[in-house]
Amino acid sequence: MRSPASQRSIMNDRSAQMGTTSFTKKALGSENGEPAVTPPPAPITETTFVKKPKLASGKSRKRDIPEGLWTKCKRCSTMVFDKELDENLKVCPNCQYHFPLGARERIHSLVETCSFEEMDADMQSVDVLKFTGISTYTSKLADYQKSTGQKDAVVTGIGKIEEHRVGLGVMDFSFLGGSMGSVVGEKLTRLIEKSTEKCLPVIIISTSGGARMYEGMFSLMQMAKTCGALAYHARAKLTFISVLTDPTMAGVMASYASVGDLIIAEPGAMIGFAGPRVIKDTTQAELPAGFQTAEFLLDHGLIDSIVPRKDMKKQLVEYLDYLTVGAKRAASAN
Ligand SMILES: [Zn+2]
Repeated sequence: MRSPASQRSIMNDRSAQMGTTSFTKKALGSENGEPAVTPPPAPITETTFVKKPKLASGKSRKRDIPEGLWTKCKRCSTMVFDKELDENLKVCPNCQYHFPLGARERIHSLVETCSFEEMDADMQSVDVLKFTGISTYTSKLADYQKSTGQKDAVVTGIGKIEEHRVGLGVMDFSFLGGSMGSVVGEKLTRLIEKSTEKCLPVIIISTSGGARMYEGMFSLMQMAKTCGALAYHARAKLTFISVLTDPTMAGVMASYASVGDLIIAEPGAMIGFAGPRVIKDTTQAELPAGFQTAEFLLDHGLIDSIVPRKDMKKQLVEYLDYLTVGAKRAASAN
């Protein structure tokens, strides 16, 4: 233990270092050493402020690293420059992993400039069941419409792919997992009916988790409705090409996506009805390697070809040339 005298002398030393008269006076006038907890005088505060800019400058150096310019590939973990990824149609230049592609970008990559006439652009879903889960269906729709700029999960219209006029429907996974509700079903049905009326081939590019649970039975009804419209289209001897992209599952795969005259898929796309975990639990069997991938389905005859995204337009034109030659000949004979 220090004597009161030595305590006082330490306090005096501290006060001298801090250079404040008031602090020194208080320390001297007190017997129990309380002045040690006296609020710090002005000169100390100034010293603290002098140090702060140094810390701030250290942080700002970190902030200088640009963000949002690079994307990490899910498959090979390569950092890909976003501009390069966009120019490569969202395909990893290193391992050819096909990133999700939005409906508008997809249409832009396929049709001739300014040739696309969109149909039913303002059609939007209604919450007929008054569905409420963690949040209401109405608020979910509003959130997705705001974040994606889309009214629903499909864009439809008529456009030209080289010299072929086609009815084109493109789904967008970023809107509620590309789920098929009454708007998706209705827009596709109207597209198919319009194409039948105008004797045009139909191409539907699918990506979907399946039926939209928020619409219950109304979404399941779309499976029959779209297939019914396609049956009339087929009866008119018109071509329907179904393109499956990652992922195409459940109610969509169990309806229009699997009834194409030609069914093609992008490399590595996950395609199926129930998910692999459900099948494994139900069958209690080990699933084969590559189960539910485009490559597996091609080997087993469920799809006709796998076409990389960069070749998609060229390949579609080749298929359309081949499949519509009879219709063209009939048209020129009339
Ligand atoms: Zn990659």
